[in-house]
Amino acid sequence: MQYRMKISRRPGVWEEVLECDECEGTGTVTGETFRIDYDHGGYLTSCKADCPTCNGNGWVHLPEEEDAD
Ligand SMILES: [Zn+2]
Repeated sequence: MQYRMKISRRPGVWEEVLECDECEGTGTVTGETFRIDYDHGGYLTSCKADCPTCNGNGWVHLPEEEDAD
């Protein structure tokens, strides 16, 4: 489920955008990275990264809408 929201990137100019469902609007995703550990052989650890879908913005542009008329 995606929520529409309004953002203002310029004063007085509002844009309707969709909350990014990849990162749930947070702009960051949790990934896993493998750390080599010479004592234990290595382990997976989680890391935070910018969401690739929205470039860390937390929202994406609405799909282009066809003109109704
Ligand atoms: Zn995102």
